[in-house]
Amino acid sequence: MDSSTPKKIFIQNFGCQMNDYDAERMVEVMHRQGYATAATAEEADLIVINSCSIRDKAEQKTASAAGRYRELKQFKPGLVVAVGGCVAQQEGERLLRRIPVADFVFGPDLIPALPSLMARVSKKRFAATEVIEVEDYEFLDADPEPSAVKVTALVTIQKGCDNHCAFCVVPTTRGREVSRPADEVIAEVARFVALGAREVTLIGQNVNSYHGIGSEDGDDFAELLERVDAVPGLLRQRFTTSHPKDFTPKVARAFRDFRTVGSWLHLPVQSGSSRTLKRMVRDYTRAEYLEKIDYLRQLVPDISLSTDIIVGYPGESEAEHQETLSLLEQVQYDSIYSFEYSARPDTPALKLRDSVHGPIKKRRLQEVQTLQRKITAARLRRWIGRDAEVLVEGASKRGAGQLCGRTRGNELVHFSAPVGGDEKALIGKLVSVHITGAGTNTLIGQMDSDVVRRLPLIAAHREADGAVH
Ligand code: SF4
Repeated sequence: MDSSTPKKIFIQNFGCQMNDYDAERMVEVMHRQGYATAATAEEADLIVINSCSIRDKAEQKTASAAGRYRELKQFKPGLVVAVGGCVAQQEGERLLRRIPVADFVFGPDLIPALPSLMARVSKKRFAATEVIEVEDYEFLDADPEPSAVKVTALVTIQKGCDNHCAFCVVPTTRGREVSRPADEVIAEVARFVALGAREVTLIGQNVNSYHGIGSEDGDDFAELLERVDAVPGLLRQRFTTSHPKDFTPKVARAFRDFRTVGSWLHLPVQSGSSRTLKRMVRDYTRAEYLEKIDYLRQLVPDISLSTDIIVGYPGESEAEHQETLSLLEQVQYDSIYSFEYSARPDTPALKLRDSVHGPIKKRRLQEVQTLQRKITAARLRRWIGRDAEVLVEGASKRGAGQLCGRTRGNELVHFSAPVGGDEKALIGKLVSVHITGAGTNTLIGQMDSDVVRRLPLIAAHREADGAVH
């Protein structure tokens, strides 16, 4: 390689939005060391596998991804392979034995230290899994290349979790909950907007317990939403993940009251049975959860809802499973993420006997997914014939002249825009799309030429007072 050619980093990312965010920060940290981004693993001098341990399969994926890089390393002896993320934090030295190709493994708290970890790379492989104490933890500011900024951006507001949900590894892998100071959050949102983002998603493990402000009524998260709402040029904000026990009426009212808060809430319920919820140590009952949903729907009747469901949790009886199905019927979620329970290392649920056999878990998962498919289809069909406010994200995969974007309710819409080949001018704008059809998970629509002519007016109007046209 020419000595003037920059070294390159390639990240193979698994898991949640927190990992997406971390992967972006890893790239930025190494860019500051002169690294460029590699389009493929073959071009890279440093490969980071950013692992996830929330599900069993994700962990297997980490091991098999690493296997693919073994051959690459034989042909490129200087190539460094590192494993970051939650599996790395959890397994440490053990992971080095399981993944012989890894030069080192490192936990999520050590992303800022990636350059110094690279400097330690030698024949002696190592695991770096220190957890930074709450008082000392500092959030890495996003520092994206302007060309890498899209219409939507992730902004972290919190790391770690102080809850003890019995099935969850996060408190072990990500440590105690730390809230990012509100001024840092607002500054980062404003930076993204200045670079062209129009929507931000505030991310954390349990955003409702955010405490970076010290507001008088103790509801720091609602106050943060209000402050983000005031950032000039921002068109939408979303947030994830919420914990039902910490979801307050004031946050519910933010959906009604704040111009930018989109009409979509992801509120993981996990099970429709209060008995199962108790064994999961979720600290709410089915009735309490439904009460929060009812209140929210009184304020914003058309809000879109999504959730997470675990089937086959230890001790889940057939009756408890039926309660989950009836909850899906009752709430009418727009979408769900559903999984079979799998025991994770170092979690309290390990003490419970994993009593639901594999075939039963499979059948229950199928029942949940079959029911939800019907509900999702019906929820999408309610849009047909209506006009939706869509934030345009980019070209649609459906073909030339087609764009895609999301409604306030987070539904993905593919639509044609009669702008005579200048579709790019619409990216980052709010437009009105007439919905003409619904697929399995997406909507189809058409922007009429009248709307295109009125577009600058519509966008200005929307930014000024939040009116939906
Ligand atoms: S709230 Fe529960 S499920 Fe979510 S990260 Fe914390 S412990 Fe895990």
